Amino acid sequence: MRLVLLGPPGVGKGTQAKQLEKKYRIPQISTGDILRASLRDGTPLGLRAKSYIEKGKLVPDDVIINLIRERLQKNDCKNGFILDGFPRSIPQAEALDIMLNELNTPLHSVVNIEVPGEKIINRLKNRRICRKCAKDFNLITNPPPADMKCPECGGEIFQRNDDKEVTIQNRLAVYDKETAPLIEYYSGKKILRTVNGYNKHEEVHDSIIMVLEGVH
Ligand code: AMP
Repeated sequence: MRLVLLGPPGVGKGTQAKQLEKKYRIPQISTGDILRASLRDGTPLGLRAKSYIEKGKLVPDDVIINLIRERLQKNDCKNGFILDGFPRSIPQAEALDIMLNELNTPLHSVVNIEVPGEKIINRLKNRRICRKCAKDFNLITNPPPADMKCPECGGEIFQRNDDKEVTIQNRLAVYDKETAPLIEYYSGKKILRTVNGYNKHEEVHDSIIMVLEGVH
């Protein structure tokens, strides 16, 4: 299954992608996680992306498209993948189409996760993640342990710099301008499925499975 999860920051794409990864045994490919790992490790990609991420802007399309092209060639993508946070602009979506068409392996579905705008800001402000394995927590609904050590891998749990309030506003504005047009793009291709993301994670997961497996 070749899948894209679409939706503004904070709707739970990462959480859902991790569940789908387990269920379908295909990798979650999160461009945000890849960029943060590169930033942490001080690679050339991380250095190039740093100022964009800190301002809540999109990293240039050519950088991201090259990153995805390389990632999709890895062996673990043979049976499919879940793209989380990519594409985020029309040029990225067009580049993805070209890549997949060349291989004769088009996308099956794009799942658009919807959450009311005012709820998103709260989710982002309260989000904390593990620096090592990217597992996420929420101070209100899924609080991290008091010692801020990840129960899964022991990594440090922290607040992403771009989850602070000033940057959140930028990221949401960038989503509306650059990424939201993908809803129309994919609905024109008849592969867009929309689910209500303002429910418990398990319920959102079930709705995604229902739309993916065609049970409505
Ligand atoms: P995320 O973890 O998906 O919210 O991504 C964090 C940040 O990484 C974004 O605010 C962008 O600066 C950058 N980023 C992640 N994915 C992309 C993408 N597909 N295109 C451009 N920038 C991206």
